[in-house]
Amino acid sequence: MTDYSANAIYYLEHQMYSFSMILNTITLQTPYLSLDSEFYDLVDPTPLDEPYLISFNPDAAKLIDLDSNSCDDPDFIGMLNGTFTPEGSRPFAMCYAGHQFGNYNHWLGDGRTINLGRVQGWNLQLKGSGETLYSRMADGRAAQRSSIREYLMSESMHHLGIPTTRALGIIGSKTKIIRNRVEEASIVMRMSTSWVRFGTFEYFFYSGKHSKLEALAEYVITESYSHLQNDDDRFFKMFCEVVERTARLIAQWQAIGFNHGVMNTDNMSIEGLTIDYGPFAMMDDFRYGYVCNHTDRAGRYAYGEQPNVSYWNLTMLSKALSPIIDKDRMQKKLDDFGAFLYPDAYVDVMRDKLGLEMKLDGDVDLITDLVVALHDIYVDHTLFYRTLSRYDGINKSTMYDIVMEPVILDKWLTQYDERLAQETRTQSQRQEAMLKTNPKYVLKNYMLQEAIEKADRGDYTMVETLLFIAAHPYDELPEFERFAGDTPEEHKNLGLSCSS
Ligand code: AMP
Ligand code: MG
Repeated sequence: MTDYSANAIYYLEHQMYSFSMILNTITLQTPYLSLDSEFYDLVDPTPLDEPYLISFNPDAAKLIDLDSNSCDDPDFIGMLNGTFTPEGSRPFAMCYAGHQFGNYNHWLGDGRTINLGRVQGWNLQLKGSGETLYSRMADGRAAQRSSIREYLMSESMHHLGIPTTRALGIIGSKTKIIRNRVEEASIVMRMSTSWVRFGTFEYFFYSGKHSKLEALAEYVITESYSHLQNDDDRFFKMFCEVVERTARLIAQWQAIGFNHGVMNTDNMSIEGLTIDYGPFAMMDDFRYGYVCNHTDRAGRYAYGEQPNVSYWNLTMLSKALSPIIDKDRMQKKLDDFGAFLYPDAYVDVMRDKLGLEMKLDGDVDLITDLVVALHDIYVDHTLFYRTLSRYDGINKSTMYDIVMEPVILDKWLTQYDERLAQETRTQSQRQEAMLKTNPKYVLKNYMLQEAIEKADRGDYTMVETLLFIAAHPYDELPEFERFAGDTPEEHKNLGLSCSS
């Protein structure tokens, strides 16, 4: 007679064994804790009630060699909820300051984010995991809608080739939080190669603790700029790389039509990554002065202001670094940002968007005229470039059909035709390149909102759909064609609240 109970126990043990093997492959390290204790708060996550998995991102799991079945492991939810602590983890929140809307705030820090540690070069963080020393009067939680937005958008940005943090998974719960209404709390596990912000340096500058600035710079060099480790001039060179990376990042944001919304110095990455997704937006109709964050009444962080604001933020970083790096040399690098680092990076990405292989003198004018025209023709930003990717110079109606003011567009198209005539590659080669540069799918706010509203009703299917779309921005996906067109009129360029 078969001993079913023994069988069942064997089965269960085997399951548990294989499950825990999956998560036990993670061994975390916490090099940040080798810094002085003022850099962090050792704090455990506060678990949510009745947690459940909303979504798991196998692409991000691969980065840390995590088995793609790990989401079936009950410990996976536990890891996101802080009840399962991976080997080697010592949870901590990071201390930082920052200029918020131009005003210095000394006491920010991870108010609702807890770091678990680092594996394969990725620092794992739980956002929404409860109070820390830096929570001030807030609850340490994140609303499900804001976690879904960050989870999906960071993946979309990655697949669009824009430097960004990533996200491994997201859990929901029955824990209630109060925002504009009562909402359910969730936690997203974020991953980044660095979580150091401009504001981390500002904290130690404004505290007058300059030896700690130096320790932080050494840490950043080890973590993010290791090729500079043995360089005698490493601090200055680190600053130069931050400036260069920031220039490229902002150029990419401008080219794709991304408005971050809260470019405070605490939300600026020392690695030039897109971090801290809040009231961001991918623009619908192109508006140079578009402001996605409706609490930003002065438009400080408007789409068109992002290059200027990043320069201002880099200036604040240079001030914070001034005790350890020569000010004049940093100023010269900042001047380069405005003179050519940013403009060149922008023109380069725009040339790619327009399918221009050669670099010609008149390109800057062509691009500037396009930006002015885009503003006046009323067109969906993503749809414009995607349609242009199939433009053949003869059938102009494909372009006229998507704009409100074809006469204005026609003037620019004539310039473009003349410029294309100077290219040496064939039209089909150009079109092929443009179709790999100009996405068919970006995650617009109305799409995210639809997923959020379904999620509020307990239906998470659209989160999965958007995760899939995010991973295939350049593909033709006939079943999702409705997301490739113009944004429905009533959803265009909405403003979002900071509350999250
Ligand atoms: P943000 O601009 O969203 O990146 O956040 C600005 C600061 O506020 C950071 O220090 C956050 O950690 C903190 N913060 C935002 N929301 C909360 C919250 N619900 N609980 C605690 N701290 C928060
Ligand atoms: Mg932030």
